[in-house]
Amino acid sequence: MSKKVVVIGEAREGSLRNVTFEAIAAANIVSDGGEVVGVLCGNGDLSEMGQEMVYYGADRVITVSNEELKTYTTEGYGQAVYAVIEDESPEGIIMGHTSQGKDLTPKLASKLESGLISDATEIVAEGGNIVFTRPIYSGKAFEKKEITDGLVFATIRPNNIPAPNRDDSLAGAVTTKDVEIKSIRTIVKDIIRKSSDGVDLSEAKVIIAGGRGVKSAEGFEPLEELADVLGGTVGASRGACDAGYCDYSLQIGQTGKVVTPDLYIACGISGAIQHLAGMSNSKVIVAINKDPEANIFNVADYGIVGDLFDVVPQLIEEVKQMKV
Ligand code: FAD
Repeated sequence: MSKKVVVIGEAREGSLRNVTFEAIAAANIVSDGGEVVGVLCGNGDLSEMGQEMVYYGADRVITVSNEELKTYTTEGYGQAVYAVIEDESPEGIIMGHTSQGKDLTPKLASKLESGLISDATEIVAEGGNIVFTRPIYSGKAFEKKEITDGLVFATIRPNNIPAPNRDDSLAGAVTTKDVEIKSIRTIVKDIIRKSSDGVDLSEAKVIIAGGRGVKSAEGFEPLEELADVLGGTVGASRGACDAGYCDYSLQIGQTGKVVTPDLYIACGISGAIQHLAGMSNSKVIVAINKDPEANIFNVADYGIVGDLFDVVPQLIEEVKQMKV
């Protein structure tokens, strides 16, 4: 049965995050030929980004612009999105399973007295029902869920549901809605960027991750160079973060970020279960480790037994040669 589905879009520094487009793709599956309505909150003119959501498949987009929405707060965005949902009465809501999504959607679900399927990695229409696949036990198994009655509310893991192709011949209205934002008790004074290049690990397509095997902050330099030539970004194990070789914002794993890049190269990482929880669903995993018995090889598609300080420079040279 076709449904009206709201997609909660996400922007950062004036650009939509790719997961917004993936959420539109997910919403189109859930809506089953119904209507996909984008909602975008922020401050200033959001119409261009709203238009972009249309080009990626939203039937129409509602923007809520307000000084109080300049930076994300649970209360501000919660009020703005809730106001749109009250107007629209959708049968489905989809958002990215990002920091904002993880924060905002449980609050909305509780206010709407609805359930929530979080962190879906696949959505398929099966025999008239929508089936969501999501990881459980830190990614060691997957469960399938259906919502047979009531609001279909879900967050989707970035990099799992392919975004639609951009099509600027698509048309749809981009309208604004005024929402009075009351009682924000959280004041964001400043935002301090931690990762060096601004690439969000959870959306990165290529990640070169370093572990305690890199031995020092300088040991990350070849990894950064490999990330550069492959157009990727650098991540880390908690071992490397705890040792002070890099910032905790790079940590991947159970208590760090969950990533699903196309290519994950683990350098000097043993493969502790807590690390695997954050990266084992990467599409292709390459492990470089001196120890042939290292657990990381159990999840790797390609394993290289060797010293990362010999192997990584060779990889950099090979990739450079391929580009010539
Ligand atoms: P190590 O286990 O010390 O492994 C280093 C590896 O480098 C070894 O396999 C070694 O053979 C190899 N090596 C050394 N030198 C070289 C070289 N020159 N070339 C190639 N290989 C080399 N960990 C996470 O990563 N993320 C998490 O989110 C996380 N959450 C946790 C939560 C809890 C509650 C707990 C208890 C632990 C958590 N941990 C997490 C920690 C985890 O258990 C491991 O301690 C950590 O992942 C180990 O990091 P590592 O693989 O870099 O270091």
